Amino acid sequence: MTDIVEDALPRLIAMRHDLHRHPEISREEAWTSVFVAERLTEMGIPVHTGVGGYGMVGVVEGSGEGPGVALRADMDALAMDEHNSFDHRSQIPGAMHACGHDGHMTMLLGAASYLSLTRRFRGTVYLVFQPAEERYGGAQLMLDAGLLERFPARNIFGLHNWPDVPAGEVIVHDGPVMAGAGEFTLKFKAPGGHAAMPHMTGDPVLAGSHFVTGIQQAVGRAVNPLEAAVVTVGSFQGGFAQNVISREATLAGTFRGLRSDILALLKARVEEIAQSAARIASTEVEIGFDDLPSPPVVNTPAEAEIMRRAARTLPGSPALHIGVPTMAGDDFGAFLEHLPGAYAWIGNGPSDRNGRLHQPDYDFNDAIIGTGVRLLSATAEQALL
Ligand SMILES: [Zn+2]
Ligand SMILES: [Zn+2]
Repeated sequence: MTDIVEDALPRLIAMRHDLHRHPEISREEAWTSVFVAERLTEMGIPVHTGVGGYGMVGVVEGSGEGPGVALRADMDALAMDEHNSFDHRSQIPGAMHACGHDGHMTMLLGAASYLSLTRRFRGTVYLVFQPAEERYGGAQLMLDAGLLERFPARNIFGLHNWPDVPAGEVIVHDGPVMAGAGEFTLKFKAPGGHAAMPHMTGDPVLAGSHFVTGIQQAVGRAVNPLEAAVVTVGSFQGGFAQNVISREATLAGTFRGLRSDILALLKARVEEIAQSAARIASTEVEIGFDDLPSPPVVNTPAEAEIMRRAARTLPGSPALHIGVPTMAGDDFGAFLEHLPGAYAWIGNGPSDRNGRLHQPDYDFNDAIIGTGVRLLSATAEQALL
């Protein structure tokens, strides 16, 4: 295994740089999907395109009959400018691979090559290249396009690079890995009026202020202190003059939790506290939610163990940790609502060298490509023993 992966590294690093130069934001991954499909075709791997927008699935058959396993990489970049000066920096203004999805695709392409050359498994490996992870729920788009019916995997695995963990170290969580999240927008409304005559109108700015403090009490009082929950009001727009009571205040924010029932509780509290805040300040309120909250990423025990077994087979025995979850999200959780699976982190090295996720000086660390290729490949082999 070592030789095939080692030999492929210069080619894989070149691919990673090519992908980094051509970032495409969520649901616009046209160039990226052609690039990936061409690489799979060169390896002789059949590829099904258009599975949920620019999503695609490569299929590698093993040496005998057996079940299916899915390996997933995300494809999209972020809508931001890159501030790096190296040769492979983004060539596209307003788009940047600042989350390392260029590296994730490269590692899955490396695993595709290794698995198709060796075929030391029985059954089928489905290589799932997923668009629109950062926005628009690409995992759900692929599920809606019949992913699981067309490519019947028994379980699914993925990974994400993780800054400030030493390069190449592997983290596999027991249970929750990343939070589920929902978004809300509130619009408090009143007739508005003279700042000195508040009794003649409701006050949307006052209502919004009650909401901001009230919702933090929901996190502190309604949620079991042993559970994780966070609500952030990221935007509060209202009013325009010192001496005028505004007609409107608009708030937007996110609520997150590591369990679906906590998300449901937070969503209900957002609604109740918005209504109460509106009553306190004599306003109306319009409450909007972005569809359903995205589910949390929660590893199933058997699949977490498969990934750990795979990590223990890697050359050099990289350190293997049990992780502490983060309140950041990943729509991999949508797959886990239907299939057992696990999501690992691979250390990307210190952030003073490679930056942090979603920052303009971030770069995926090429030194971890080999570990990622080996971890994904060994995970497929362990799942299809
Ligand atoms: Zn991201
Ligand atoms: Zn990401």
